[in-house]
Amino acid sequence: MVDGLAAELLPTLRAYAIPMPTRFRGITLREGALLHGPAGWGEFSPFGEYGPRECARWLACALESAAIGWPAPARDSIPVNVTVPAVAPEQAHAIVARSGCRTAKVKVAEPGQADGDDIARVEAVRDAIGPGGRIRVDANGGWDVAHAAAMLRALARFGLEYAEQPCATVAELAELRRQVAVPLAADESIRRAEDPVSVRAAGAADIVVLKAQPLGGVRAALRVAEACGLPAVVSSAVETSVGLAAGVALAAALPALDFACGLATMSLLAGDVTGEPLHEQGGALPVRRAAVDPAELSRWEVDPAAWRARLVAAARYLPAQFQQGSCGRARPVC
Ligand SMILES: [Mg+2]
Repeated sequence: MVDGLAAELLPTLRAYAIPMPTRFRGITLREGALLHGPAGWGEFSPFGEYGPRECARWLACALESAAIGWPAPARDSIPVNVTVPAVAPEQAHAIVARSGCRTAKVKVAEPGQADGDDIARVEAVRDAIGPGGRIRVDANGGWDVAHAAAMLRALARFGLEYAEQPCATVAELAELRRQVAVPLAADESIRRAEDPVSVRAAGAADIVVLKAQPLGGVRAALRVAEACGLPAVVSSAVETSVGLAAGVALAAALPALDFACGLATMSLLAGDVTGEPLHEQGGALPVRRAAVDPAELSRWEVDPAAWRARLVAAARYLPAQFQQGSCGRARPVC
């Protein structure tokens, strides 16, 4: 049983499964669903481990995209970072050198690698990006406080704009922040709307990483950013261009955008559902929507039954404003 906006858009649901050339978050296949409504296309692609209550926020983002639309943008282009996986220095250098981005995010603290590997990789990236480029490192929570403090001091000579999630917990981040001068950004510590405010209250970060789908859509994420008050970086949840466009809309609507965003993730997927993917060009993404191209979608389309079931289960937990239909009888697209 499902009603409101979710019921109106359910018949439009299409499901996709797109291979990922490099394993990310432990997966090699990105799966999700797309909905179409009067405002355009929306993406509903919570990762497999999320239950209905958590999925409701991802669904709210898709419904906002498809049926409501987004707030007016304050800018027409979003600077983005190139991501450097935990690769050898020569490869890291090449990735940055062929990118148009002036900011690089370097993955560090990879299990099985040594501190020297991280240091050599960051050194190679500084060499490739030049003295005017910005470098941030992302440890995905992989260090304890003492290890993080030692590594951030060792890496400081290459000039870091910030370190993303150096430790796993909010308490560790707060302790580390008292010990090092490099600004800290919270990413994995922010999964729910109330998290940024607690991260700030704990003194655990200087910057928050916000994602449109997990936070319940562009407007919900803007409210989170305002309540938190810390500078925000918008990142993707490794979506197709339809989902990336919601992140772009969030980055475009933020009152201030001081950092390049983590939205250049199209290259992590083997393909897209649109004929005009939101690829990084000259270090930026244009602020625009993405429409599904039937020919592109057909390459990746899968049976939608499982995604219809996930949507129906999640719809029970949607915020009140989505519980009522808003499309009206006069709009045949609904
Ligand atoms: Mg991160």
